[in-house]
Parts: sequence; C-alpha cells; structure tokens
Amino acid sequence: MAQTTPNHTQTVSGWAVLDSSGKAVPHTFKRRENGVDDVTIEIMYCGICHTDLHFARNDWGITMYPVVPGHEITGIITKVGSNVNKFRLGDRVGVGCLAASCLECDFCKSSRENYCDQIQLTYNGIFWDGSITYGGYSKFMVADHRYVVRIPENLPMDATAPLLCAGITVFSPFKDSNLVDSPGKKVGVVGLGGLGHLAVKFGKAFGHHVTVISTSPFKEKEARERLGADDFIVSTNARELQAARRTLDFIVDTVSAKHSLGPILELLTVNGTLAVVCAPDQPMELPAFPLIFGKRSVRGSMTGSTSETQEMLDVCSKHNITCDIELVKTDNINEAWDRLARNDVRYRFVIDIAGKSSNL
Ligand code: NAP
Ligand code: ZN
Repeated sequence: MAQTTPNHTQTVSGWAVLDSSGKAVPHTFKRRENGVDDVTIEIMYCGICHTDLHFARNDWGITMYPVVPGHEITGIITKVGSNVNKFRLGDRVGVGCLAASCLECDFCKSSRENYCDQIQLTYNGIFWDGSITYGGYSKFMVADHRYVVRIPENLPMDATAPLLCAGITVFSPFKDSNLVDSPGKKVGVVGLGGLGHLAVKFGKAFGHHVTVISTSPFKEKEARERLGADDFIVSTNARELQAARRTLDFIVDTVSAKHSLGPILELLTVNGTLAVVCAPDQPMELPAFPLIFGKRSVRGSMTGSTSETQEMLDVCSKHNITCDIELVKTDNINEAWDRLARNDVRYRFVIDIAGKSSNL
C-alpha cells in the first residue's frame, strides 16, 4: 500500500513497477492538491535514465514499490500556487531528480540543495507531507516550484528532457573542475551512454580535446563523426590503454556496471581528477598505486542543484546542445528498458507521454 495523505485527491494515470519483477505496468495513483508553493505540470516527455532501471530492479535494495520512475521531465504548467511568482500558466518547464530538501541547511541556503542531508528525490522519495514521491512516467505531476526550471525557447521539449538528469549530472563536475570557461584541456569520458554522450557534447562545446573510453568498439565511428570525439579508446584493449597513460586532465566515469577504477586512473596526468557519477550496485575496485603514484583524486558528484540545472539549460540553449534521443510510446517502456540493459540505445530513450500514441 502506497503512503499517501488525505490531501492526495488527484487521480493520475501512469506506469509503475509493482514488485521486484522489474516490469512496468499501467498504474493509477494519487497526487497531492496543488499547494501554495506548487505548480502542476502536464507532462509531455520523460527520459529513461539508467537509474530508472536500477530502481525498477531494486539493484540498490532501497526501492519502495510501487515505484513510478522518471526524473527527466518536460511539460507545461497548468496550475500555479499563490506563493509562486516565477512561473505562469502555459510556461515550458522541466523537473529533474529533486523534489524536496530541508531549505535550512548551508547547502540549501547556498543553492547546493542537491547535497542537503534531507534531500528527497522526484520518485522513491518521502515528501515533506510524508507521502512517497512518484515520477514522470505519468500524465501530470505536482512539484514545489523551488525544484522546477524553465526550458529555453529554442530547445525542443523531447530532446531536452534528458538534460534534466543526464545533462546536469555531467555538467556539474565539468563546472566543479573549472572546465566550462577554460578550454584546451584533455577530457576523458568513460561509457558512451545517456550521460556519456552528453559529456562528449559538453567537452567539445567547451573547447576541450575529448577521448571516449568505451567497451564498445562499434561506437567509435559515431563517437568521432556524430559527437565530435577526438580519440576513442577501447577499454578492453591493454595496448590502447598503455599508449594513453598519463594523457588526460579530467575524466568523468558514467559506466552503470561494476568495474575497476585502476585502469581509468592510469590515464590521468599527475594531479588529475576522476569524477565518478555512475552508481553501480556493487562497490568498485579502487587500487592504491594509481592514486598515490599520480597524486590523483577521485570525486563523486550527485546530479546538480536547481539553479545549476537552469544554468546548464541556458548553456545548452547558447551552444544548441540537446540529447540524441529515440522516442518511445508508453506501451514500449519495458522493451526500451531491456534494450537499455543490453546497451542498445543511441543515446537516450524518451517516452512520448502526451502524444497520441500514449494511453495515459
Ligand atoms: P547508460 O545510458 O546505460 O550508459 C552506461 C554506459 O556504460 C553504457 O552505454 C556503456 O558504455 C557502459 N556500460 C554498460 N554496461 C557496462 C558493463 N557491463 N561494463 C562496462 N561498461 C558498461 O546509463 P546512464 O543513464 O548514462 O547512467 C549511467 C550511470 O550513472 C548509472 O549507474 C546511473 O544510475 C548513474 N547516474 C548517476 C547520477 C548522479 O547523480 N550521480 C545521475 C544519473 C545517472 P560503452 O558501451 O561505451 O562501454
Ligand atoms: Zn537520472
């Protein structure tokens, strides 16, 4: 039985996973009334993040079923609470991973609420009223305006949806490492999936030399020709890894499965940084020697704050960066998940929530 409150009066149709079978099925559930700080959003598109798969399959052991996934949401505002000044009816907006935070800690007060200790996620979180949060695989949602961003006019709603998680998750470590406005660095991207292909686009837009490190040799041609990557290393090829030792200033790791960080660290120059954004279900190997011999750092990064997400969208608007997507109908969510698990996507599935083919 889902946790809800008497204030949850609105009936919504969506898709949910009901148990550890990990299959998505049509599901009707309740959302709260639009409160004074809320906006209601008619959802148009929702990207499929690998995190949705991790939750659907309970990879991390923390899934609260039924789970309605989806945190790469774009849509149109249909209701505005009385405390909300920054949005109007009809605005094009987006919602990413964040649903609530304490609003009082140093992180919340300095626009870094993604690191608040009380952070609650857009789905599988517990909202302030005690209810479980449900995500964007659904017809509409109610969101606190402090976690909602504006979609720039020149960006399409479908190919922008994945920027709300995949985009900001790789943009944030670029920014932390001062790579947005200082070109000419050597950047590596491990794993060419949803997050990875956007990291390549950011790296090129910001003027860096970008090397893809991938398990999939068949992705080389498109990495170079379509995404503009400068180099491509097959991570199972010891000779290629050896040749690239100590060449990269910064690497972002987006591989969804367990892997060793040792061979990746060896690619960094002395003092280089490895930003880990991936979240495999098993601990990853972190050998000491590549760390100490190269004085290298490994750093994590958790999506981005709302203001940073807005900044990222504005940067995408300026550089015309969107996601390479394959649009799917709601009926094909399970098929898309299976293909994502098999590494068969270029590079993000996006669910056409509001389209005619949707049965919501
Ligand atoms: P994705 O589209 O499935 O891409 C992951 C890539 O990892 C694949 O394209 C593949 O690239 C590589 N890969 C997959 N299985 C592999 C295996 N068994 N061995 C080696 N490489 C493998 O996933 P995504 O949506 O980009 O998400 C990536 C990870 O980031 C997930 O764990 C997700 O939960 C996490 N994530 C974290 C945050 C955060 O806030 N930190 C936010 C969003 C997502 P190649 O074919 O090139 O090897
Ligand atoms: Zn995500």
